Amino acid sequence: MRALTFLAHRFVAGDAIDEAIASVRELNAEGLKVTLDNLGEDSHDKAHALAAADENLLMLRRIAESGVDANISLKLSQLGMGFDDALAKESLLRIVAEAEKLKNFVRIDMEGSKFTQKTLDIFYALHDAHPGVGIVLQAMLRRTEQDCRDAVARKVRVRLCKGAYKEDASVAFPDKKDVDASYDRCSAILAKAPIPAMATHDDARIDAALASFDAAGLVKSDYELQMLFGIRGKRARELRSMGHTVRIYVPYGTHWFPYFYRRLRERKENLLFIVRNLFE
Ligand SMILES: Cc1cc2nc3c(=O)[nH]c(=O)nc-3n(C[C@H](O)[C@H](O)[C@H](O)COP(=O)(O)OP(=O)(O)OC[C@H]3O[C@@H](n4cnc5c(N)ncnc54)[C@H](O)[C@@H]3O)c2cc1C
Repeated sequence: MRALTFLAHRFVAGDAIDEAIASVRELNAEGLKVTLDNLGEDSHDKAHALAAADENLLMLRRIAESGVDANISLKLSQLGMGFDDALAKESLLRIVAEAEKLKNFVRIDMEGSKFTQKTLDIFYALHDAHPGVGIVLQAMLRRTEQDCRDAVARKVRVRLCKGAYKEDASVAFPDKKDVDASYDRCSAILAKAPIPAMATHDDARIDAALASFDAAGLVKSDYELQMLFGIRGKRARELRSMGHTVRIYVPYGTHWFPYFYRRLRERKENLLFIVRNLFE
């Protein structure tokens, strides 16, 4: 368990908001922007869902008070989507309204494919009246190219990632090379969307996106490159020193296991590290 907690802290900025704000300050001092995430998903009762909404409101206020350069990311299932969609919607509206008041921005993370349509429905119901909210799309899903086209037509701010959830081949590309090709097609489409955010640690995907953005006439302030806290930090800093806007996704909180598990699954070296520590 000690090895687990130790490795989890490579990916998670701490248990509470103050530790997370301290990490944001350090990253900001190096020219890196941040999106803060209070870990948690799949709330199954109203009390948990409302507590998660309150924590997101607190995050927005603490960001404003401390003057750090950060926006927030959240998961709708943490706000109750799945067991009470109306509650999730209501909480999201409160959070987005607070972000607008504080001139900040809310990104809705994308979860497993059983939630994709519902997440997009809740997002689009709010988006036209509240442009301070953006969405995430996952290149691994077969539907995503069309979702990118819709996002361009509706002037939506999209973060493009490969997708971290285990999916069936009926909805997602099973082969990595097809996911990568989808990522490149989607980034080219998103060149026409406002502030496309390329969330990947994969150099070939970053290079392809930069080539598409350049061909579309975008300059460095028109898009973001995004990476996860604790992964390829050196590369993030190199990209920043080349003049790109780089934003780091910084999660904090005590409900770190599902997030941590997804990071382990992505990379066998992380699993080997755990196994080694368990036997020491
Ligand atoms: C800012 C940000 C936000 C995200 N938001 C979402 C979201 O809302 N929904 C969602 O489903 N997914 C999200 N993801 C996760 C994403 O979908 C991928 O699971 C993850 O980024 C790994 O894919 P990759 O694009 O980095 O490419 P990969 O091909 O998986 O990795 C490329 C290289 O990056 C490094 N790397 C990748 N993962 C790890 C790791 N865990 N540990 C160590 N090194 C690693 C390795 O060097 C690897 O060779 C997000 C990712 C980022 C960066």
